[in-house]
Amino acid sequence: MLNLYDSLTGRLKPFPPDDSRPTTMYACGPTVYHYAHIGNLRTYAAVDLLRRYLEYRGHRVKLVMNITDVGHMLEDADRGEDKMEAAAAREGKTPWEIAAFYTDAFFKDVEAIGLKPADVYPKATDHVPEMIGLIEKLLANGKAYVTEQGDVYYDVGSFKDYGKLSGNTVEELVAGARVEGAPDKRHPADFALWINNPKHVMQWKAPWGSGYPGWHLECSAMSMKYIGETIDLHAAGEDLKFPHHECEIAQSEGATGRPFVRHWFHVKHLLVEGEKMSKSKGNFYTLSDLVDKGFSPEAVRFLLLSAHYRTQLNFTIEGLRAAEKELASLRELAESLESKVSAEGGFASGGKGQRSNTASPFERQFQEALDDDLNVSSALAVVRVFARGANRALADGRMESASAAVGVNFLKAFDGVFGLRLFEERVLEIPPDIESLVKAREEARGKKDWAESDRLRALIEERGFEVEDAPEGAKIKKRRA
Ligand code: AMP
Ligand code: ZN
Repeated sequence: MLNLYDSLTGRLKPFPPDDSRPTTMYACGPTVYHYAHIGNLRTYAAVDLLRRYLEYRGHRVKLVMNITDVGHMLEDADRGEDKMEAAAAREGKTPWEIAAFYTDAFFKDVEAIGLKPADVYPKATDHVPEMIGLIEKLLANGKAYVTEQGDVYYDVGSFKDYGKLSGNTVEELVAGARVEGAPDKRHPADFALWINNPKHVMQWKAPWGSGYPGWHLECSAMSMKYIGETIDLHAAGEDLKFPHHECEIAQSEGATGRPFVRHWFHVKHLLVEGEKMSKSKGNFYTLSDLVDKGFSPEAVRFLLLSAHYRTQLNFTIEGLRAAEKELASLRELAESLESKVSAEGGFASGGKGQRSNTASPFERQFQEALDDDLNVSSALAVVRVFARGANRALADGRMESASAAVGVNFLKAFDGVFGLRLFEERVLEIPPDIESLVKAREEARGKKDWAESDRLRALIEERGFEVEDAPEGAKIKKRRA
């Protein structure tokens, strides 16, 4: 049974809470006003690891991840600029065009970095009627009020549990809050559910006047629609604990009177080259920035998953190089073990991509590690010990096909949880000039002209490829970055 840290109680709790039905998870998804950066991807990958591990342990999971395409402000102030509209102004497009473009880019990243798709990706702009419905409920039970300006605010004073997730009390917030721009709030800490701003491009009609919904409200309305009043687990990066999640709790529990979330899962923010990511420091990366540098998305994913989700991860190019190297060696091991099994007819390992049900001692240790709040460091230590032993046995010719089959099975378990595509055949696009160089080199080798063969090998390497001479002919690979 997985013991998972709950950031509301600060304790490890068994998860999932009830296995007689699918476990429900809601993850705050992207605000689609720019490309996802690797910090966002760390959070998504951690949620994916959790989901894959639960499924590997035989649980059914329903995952909902929203797409925020309206209402997320540049600053926390209720009347700040909407990120979508700021991006539209920057790029000379409409907010709808911005949303369509970056939503598409997000799904390309999801695919490239191997995130198992969520069951639903609801868009905020498709759920405005549900949000209006939720505001009506909150107005009816005295938890919200309409101002003269036509905004609707949540009255935090009416919700006694406000602050239970972040520890920010209403009194402290009132003392520290800024009130500029929203003079008709009852309390400085009240937050906007609906904003009336005629300058905003995206507008909807509501019973109290036109406007657009607040970002916090979206997650409450969409999780209620697709999951229900109570979610088993709610996930996001740690930055969203306050105010976003605190406000989600107030709205949802204020409307339904029932617990909103059973388990909170917050992922620590990523550092890059030892610092907070920022464009001006040159340490801000998207997945395609790294792919353009010659790294594989799997290596990016491997590095992002290599540290515990609640610990600081310092993402460096040097670390990425090491991840790429380790991944290549694990892939080679997977291939050697599989060919050993198929050549010598070892017992069935479930076929390509499939696993048999027997757990080896390595696999049991791997499970024990992950059962402990997804302790990836211990889990990866088990994989490394296994890989070292298996490589040694293969090199010494001591690897029996039965042990190779057990090894394949273990690596498939590891790969199913970490999602590194260790067993997928990699189609390498080889440019025609490399192909002709390799062909010329084969001819030189046929004539035993070793000097010419070495000269051609150097040329191939200069162009970013390498050749390996195997009994069945030359194998071409991409040179590692
Ligand atoms: P956003 O697109 O900014 O709304 O964020 C999408 C998700 O990425 C949320 O779960 C954020 O908490 C998370 N996130 C944002 N920045 C980082 C970061 N530097 N490290 C880890 N997660 C992050
Ligand atoms: Zn959210």
